[in-house]
Amino acid sequence: MSERPLGVSTRAVHSGNDIDQHMVTRAKSLPIYETSVFVYDSLAQVDDFLAGNPDNYMYTRIGNPNQAALEMLVRDLEGGEAALFSASGMAAISAALLGLLSAGDHLIASRELYGTTQSLIEKELSRFGIASTLVDIGDLDAVKAAITPATRLIYTETASNPLVRVSDVPALAALAKAHGLKLLVDNTFLSPALYRPLADGADLVLHSTTKYLNGHSDATGGILVGDADWIAQARRFQINAGGSASPFEAWLTFRGAKTLALRMQAHSRNAQALAEALEAHPRVAKVHYPGLASHPDHDLARRLFGKGCSGMLSFTLHGGLDEVDRLMRGLRHTAFAPSLAGVASSISHPGKTSHRALSPEALAELDIHDGTIRVSVGIEDAADIVADFVQALDAL
Ligand SMILES: *Cc1c(COP(=O)(O)O)cnc(C)c1O
Repeated sequence: MSERPLGVSTRAVHSGNDIDQHMVTRAKSLPIYETSVFVYDSLAQVDDFLAGNPDNYMYTRIGNPNQAALEMLVRDLEGGEAALFSASGMAAISAALLGLLSAGDHLIASRELYGTTQSLIEKELSRFGIASTLVDIGDLDAVKAAITPATRLIYTETASNPLVRVSDVPALAALAKAHGLKLLVDNTFLSPALYRPLADGADLVLHSTTKYLNGHSDATGGILVGDADWIAQARRFQINAGGSASPFEAWLTFRGAKTLALRMQAHSRNAQALAEALEAHPRVAKVHYPGLASHPDHDLARRLFGKGCSGMLSFTLHGGLDEVDRLMRGLRHTAFAPSLAGVASSISHPGKTSHRALSPEALAELDIHDGTIRVSVGIEDAADIVADFVQALDAL
């Protein structure tokens, strides 16, 4: 009889802890190995490390117990073969793409990508002869039409920023498989507590751990999980290019990830309550949250995401920049901060921050307007979050 698989909360608390079993102190919680190098007693030990023994370390750019523990933890949460932790989400994305692709290759990506990812693809990879086509990733015919003999992979995000459009990962995985392509999914907005793209056929999942996996807005990092061969290529690239993370960032993220499942329940519950309150408010023209029946991907989200739709939503005011500014100043407990996924609720303005590079026409085509505000809903009490927005909206 096969053993019952452990739940996501249990894995978050226990996976990776025994990375320290060979160490001397028997500390209950994982210490911070804030060291750049490790000591060797014999040439045989050096040979052992270079032969790939994972219990040994040599130099922190190559690997460190804190990095390894976090990799084990997130690998177990996502259900993948291997994982690689990096200095930032962008370092992880760079390692994934530059570890796999070569000059002459082509990739297809969602046109609603995180802005810096789009810049990496269009401004950097293009200089090394890696071509790309950005498509409406919800239009499978458009994805199919973009495939060329040079195409190696399809890149999407589980949910887009700021309109939270949901990617049909099972359908994209089937399409990728049929054409011999790899599927890479940025799962930052959902986290493995709510959705696991590898189980739906993705080859590689990535996270900016700066966001939900750490969850406390105090550490920067990124992680890849999935196909062992691809991870090995990304690791080689990272060791050569130097995007390795510090032990302290790995340790903070490992600590933060322990409470991932609890936090994601609270983020989801609070975002649902806020989305419903915003939709009922006369100052609000439109709310984008997949937990609402009015969202175009509501049914898809219900099919894919088990226990909630996460804490990211956006809404558009009837008014423009002036009303946004007044709302910003009227909110008492909700800061304006252009990042997301921390325990404290925050708002951001896509037009002035993440999507600043886009023309007004391009923004309008995406349904992003002067009055569009993105909310990263925190884990405070739902009634307090809703009350803060309602009082600020009432005062406009
Ligand atoms: C923040 C973010 C990134 C980039 O991660 P950094 O840690 O800032 O480098 C990539 N993808 C998504 C969806 C993000 O939100």
